[in-house]
Amino acid sequence: MMSSIRLAAVAVLLAVPSRAFGEDEVRIAIQSGSAAVTVSGKSLTIFDAEVGDALFRGTGKAQAKLTREGELLVIQAPGLPVRKAKRVLVEAIDAVYVDKGVYFGRLEVGPDPDGKKGAILVINRLPLETYLLGIVGSEMSPAWPEEALKAQAVAARTYAMQRRMMMRAAHKPYDLASTVLSQVYKGAERIRPSVIDAVRSTRGEVLSFDHELAETLFHSTCGGETTSAKSAFGRAIPYLQPRRCEWCKASNRYAWHLSFPLSEISTRLERARLVRSRLEGFERPGGASKVAVKEKKGQRNLSPKEVRAAIGYGDLYSDRFSAKTVGKKVEIEGKGFGHGVGMCQWGAKGMADAGKNYRQILEHYYAGAKVRRAY
Ligand SMILES: [Zn+2]
Repeated sequence: MMSSIRLAAVAVLLAVPSRAFGEDEVRIAIQSGSAAVTVSGKSLTIFDAEVGDALFRGTGKAQAKLTREGELLVIQAPGLPVRKAKRVLVEAIDAVYVDKGVYFGRLEVGPDPDGKKGAILVINRLPLETYLLGIVGSEMSPAWPEEALKAQAVAARTYAMQRRMMMRAAHKPYDLASTVLSQVYKGAERIRPSVIDAVRSTRGEVLSFDHELAETLFHSTCGGETTSAKSAFGRAIPYLQPRRCEWCKASNRYAWHLSFPLSEISTRLERARLVRSRLEGFERPGGASKVAVKEKKGQRNLSPKEVRAAIGYGDLYSDRFSAKTVGKKVEIEGKGFGHGVGMCQWGAKGMADAGKNYRQILEHYYAGAKVRRAY
């Protein structure tokens, strides 16, 4: 976690009026489903989000605990009477701490509409450019070359704006989640001077195609060639086509070998209801589009994508693999890490190391899309 001196320094750097540039806030779901949330920070203040009254004002470093009681949130802080509200806004000087994370901007805390009864949803509301400071350093190592960080900043900005449009049209309480399925967001923890430079020097820049925001998907490592949106998601997108990539060879996920006990794969596929009984075989010859799983009562074909979701995104690195069952083990040879569509992040690093700039990187992976300024 960042020291408070460093956090304060970053907060000062960020003190640029963002509204003046037509940049809007984004709403990031940072925690959902929990029964209790602890918030803390310097001069912590909690407002009733419906009526605007301050329910709690801390002096110095203060802390409060939020739990649910029916439709209401219960706010408890040492030495203060218990307060209740439907939804609250939480603010603090520099940053707000939530359980183990630290976040710039404000928090909105309320009932979790998708969670079980009594669950709490925590949303971080902050200007888009500030959010990008948290995302670029979470998605890429801040030690990577500047041009790669800049390419990531433009791709992440475009992605966030595109998602925000979609989620607001669907009247969702937040615009983005903070998991690997959305973008990896670690709040204020990964902000470094290199990241601040990358975000600031590309401020307002997005990728567009046909006067619309491009769908700037990205992933860790393609393993030699990126995947088309058509083959990954069944939807053809002109600028998300297979692109040769020699640049990601330095990634330790460029080519890999994994060995799983057949029983373990069986358990995970059963849990995901992809198969009904214990597996006797799991096969995918090189180049085959489906995985053939053998059960007692016969064989069925599964898509590599559903197999990866069932085994786990972190355990089976991509859906670009071949597999064979040898005795009680499944031997898997694969390429890349992630869905393989759009920008290859290790490839972007390789291109930057070879002297390419961020526009060349973006034009390589999103061929046909153009960099333009949104604000
Ligand atoms: Zn690559």
